[in-house]
Amino acid sequence: MAAHARIGPSSLKRTINCRGSIRELEKLTRTSNDAADEGSCLHTFCEEVLNSEGLLEPFDLIGKTYEHNGYNLTITLDHAEHAINGIDWIRQQPGELLVEQRVSLEPWMPDQFGTCDVAILDDDLCIIFDWKWGSGVPVKVEDNPQLKAYALGFLHTVLRPRGQEPSTFRLIIEQPRNAKGGRYYEHWDISLEDLLEFGELLKEVYADVMSGTAPCVAGEWCKETFCDVMKTEQGCPAYNRMMIDLLGPEFDDDDLDLEDPDLITPERRGRIVKWAAEIRAWLAKLHEDSIDAAYAGRTDPGLKLVPGQKGDRYFTDEEEAELILGAALGAQAFTFKLKSPAQAEKDLKPGRKKVGNKTAWSALTELIGQDEGKPVLVADSDPRPALKPLRDYFDDDDDASTFSLDD
Ligand code: SF4
Repeated sequence: MAAHARIGPSSLKRTINCRGSIRELEKLTRTSNDAADEGSCLHTFCEEVLNSEGLLEPFDLIGKTYEHNGYNLTITLDHAEHAINGIDWIRQQPGELLVEQRVSLEPWMPDQFGTCDVAILDDDLCIIFDWKWGSGVPVKVEDNPQLKAYALGFLHTVLRPRGQEPSTFRLIIEQPRNAKGGRYYEHWDISLEDLLEFGELLKEVYADVMSGTAPCVAGEWCKETFCDVMKTEQGCPAYNRMMIDLLGPEFDDDDLDLEDPDLITPERRGRIVKWAAEIRAWLAKLHEDSIDAAYAGRTDPGLKLVPGQKGDRYFTDEEEAELILGAALGAQAFTFKLKSPAQAEKDLKPGRKKVGNKTAWSALTELIGQDEGKPVLVADSDPRPALKPLRDYFDDDDDASTFSLDD
């Protein structure tokens, strides 16, 4: 294992669970990741605002371009609106503020480091604040290894040299693009004692990683961190094995003692549905790889490549087509569509740096409806609260289960 192996707080959940992943990832050439590079640009943007000591607001930087790994991001009104809540909140906190502090994990993982977005020290409380710029599934703050590593690194790099050891660390995740309505904020407290215990786990993980012989262990962390090993041509053997086991009769682990492996029990169904997205993605990759092999003249046994269903028709020269259609149909050559509520909101809703049209927007909000989302099944570790079963909506007298064909 190379002495310079980079473990990094952002991939700690994967590394703790799959200690062989660092070794396998080192064999790959780094591919660019636009989402990560965009996140880095947004971190620099927030850092500039916070370090301006109140002279700059996010809106003042609209139009400015930030670069990371060759990726360019120009700040828009949306970026500014997403950043402002977190920035306002940070500015209101009492205590000493440190922004984009590089922290070392030397006592637990030699040569490993990270950068803490924001830390605020106020007497016996140390706040570790982390922006997540992804949208979709909320990132859980509870027991989050990345934030715990930042807290440890901050303790070692900044606090201990000053003789400070706060008894509580408050870990915060701000994920502004996540929640509908624009804000997702979560916090979780951990004591110094528990944090140091986590440091002992990091020592163990580090020793395993550096041994170079730790096995790869597949699980939800593969998908959560989009581990590049499973995207290679052969895929990750451990991940392949997990997929095959999920679909085959042997997939049950010790806690699922099924008498008949051919039976779809609730346990078996739950396990397969929980992994359905990953199974679909894995099958799609196999399909793509098989097509590539066929194009290369190495068709997989039992298959052949034939032309697929034709796509939708389109005009090869839109300008020429517009002239002909316009001459033939006049105004009817075009279709017009009313703006959606989201587009209307962008144009009309007043904001801190946007006049908008208050009257029109408030009249329009009366006309906006929204269907409930169709319920989806997710892993029980997901932070979203579970829906109540339908039967809980009926009281005892009109319980749905009391109805029968005889009634
Ligand atoms: S795909 Fe999963 S099992 Fe394979 S190396 Fe990555 S984290 Fe480990």
